[in-house]
Amino acid sequence: MDEQRAAYDLLVVGGGIAGVTTAIEAAEAGLTVALVEREPSLGGRVARFHHYFPKLCPPSCGLEINYRRLREHANVRVFTLASVESIEGDSPEIEVTVCVRPRYTNPVAFDYGEWAKTCPVDCEDPFNYGIGRRKALYYPWDNAYPPRWVVDERAVDDPAFREWAQGDPAGGIDLDQRERTVSLTVKSVAWATGWRPYDASKLDRLGFGELPDVLTNVIFERLSAPDGPTGGELTAPSGREVNRVAFVQCAGSRDKDHLPYCSGVCCAVSLKQASYVRERLPEAEIHMFYIDVRTPGRLEDFLQEREQDPRITLHRGKVAKVEQVEDGLAVTAENTLTGDRETVTVDLVVLATGMQPTAAVEKLAARAELDENGFFIQDDEPAAHYGVGTAVRPLGVAETLQDATGAAMKALQMARRS
Ligand SMILES: Cc1cc2nc3c(=O)[nH]c(=O)nc-3n(C[C@H](O)[C@H](O)[C@H](O)COP(=O)(O)OP(=O)(O)OC[C@H]3O[C@@H](n4cnc5c(N)ncnc54)[C@H](O)[C@@H]3O)c2cc1C
Repeated sequence: MDEQRAAYDLLVVGGGIAGVTTAIEAAEAGLTVALVEREPSLGGRVARFHHYFPKLCPPSCGLEINYRRLREHANVRVFTLASVESIEGDSPEIEVTVCVRPRYTNPVAFDYGEWAKTCPVDCEDPFNYGIGRRKALYYPWDNAYPPRWVVDERAVDDPAFREWAQGDPAGGIDLDQRERTVSLTVKSVAWATGWRPYDASKLDRLGFGELPDVLTNVIFERLSAPDGPTGGELTAPSGREVNRVAFVQCAGSRDKDHLPYCSGVCCAVSLKQASYVRERLPEAEIHMFYIDVRTPGRLEDFLQEREQDPRITLHRGKVAKVEQVEDGLAVTAENTLTGDRETVTVDLVVLATGMQPTAAVEKLAARAELDENGFFIQDDEPAAHYGVGTAVRPLGVAETLQDATGAAMKALQMARRS
């Protein structure tokens, strides 16, 4: 069923840390806000980290405060499992159609945790980047917002699932739910659509997709997380014991054939991930291959701490290939200053792939200019459509939060103009 048209000062598209912060900051400054997120829960990529720098705290610590602010604020309406279908008109009467997909559950005061384990159907798990599977009735993640169970739409027509769902002990499952459309009128649109990891299978000779023990940095976050597919145990997908780990910097970044820019955070991310290895495997050797290590501002402390670790070796070198050899994976790099080649054999390789803006890989309904890499170009003048956070450029969380506060100011300007 379609809802009647509702008016808001601001529409935020994307419920990662940038979108949630923009929505709250704008609401606390007095605007009415609609926040549209296509996943079943807010949190974006940060929700999938084990820890995040600089403090190395779990994602829940930053997100919980934001969720509390959201809950306390009647000015924000959150739509999850939702996406913008069309946008017409200009400020102050931008007409937006939002499509909301069914969750196939209604809110009930019942924890399905134990019962969901008996579900006979499971599906590939995109939250874990395809590693492992999840039950068709699932809770998006420990700190999900809204805190609600979801039925995976791929299972809805599965007879085995439907039969099992008839035994629902709390009556929350509702397989008759249908997609609905919501019409909004807004004065401006903040595009907080974030980033996705660069597709590592496009990187020739680095082995991703061919060699099981070559992973990417986003997958490594999930492997390290206690709520991840291995319960936080650092095991190689092939089953091999892990004693040696290599981090390959600039995997596809600063490369005109892939991402010509620097994502800014990948060096700090690998240094952070080296600490995950050190926590779990105190004796492991860690090798980091870099062109130059970029740890701006206070992240320099991070580098210096890792440099004190006698079992971490920093190799200046662009990795040319990763090959399976008898005793592991041979990583060959060429020194960017001397041209000398060096090969180190390890058990696990983590490719530090960069951030690619969502707009580079999918068409958004935004009426805004994008640069050649798909990042939103910021106007000097207040505009009706503007990017926020990593939709504008690669950023860490702290910088994303600052950018979101700036976006809330833009929303205020647009709302006050009308
Ligand atoms: C491996 C890795 C580890 C990192 N670790 C750290 C760290 O430790 N510390 C740190 O400061 N930074 C870290 N970063 C950077 C951090 O991920 C970003 O700063 C942060 O994710 C930016 O948040 P965002 O909201 O801009 O984007 P995202 O987190 O990508 O959120 C975007 C949201 O928009 C939604 N969305 C996208 N398109 C649509 C659409 N069309 N309609 C509706 N919703 C949509 C998405 O589902 C998502 O929820 C790391 C980056 C990488 C690559």
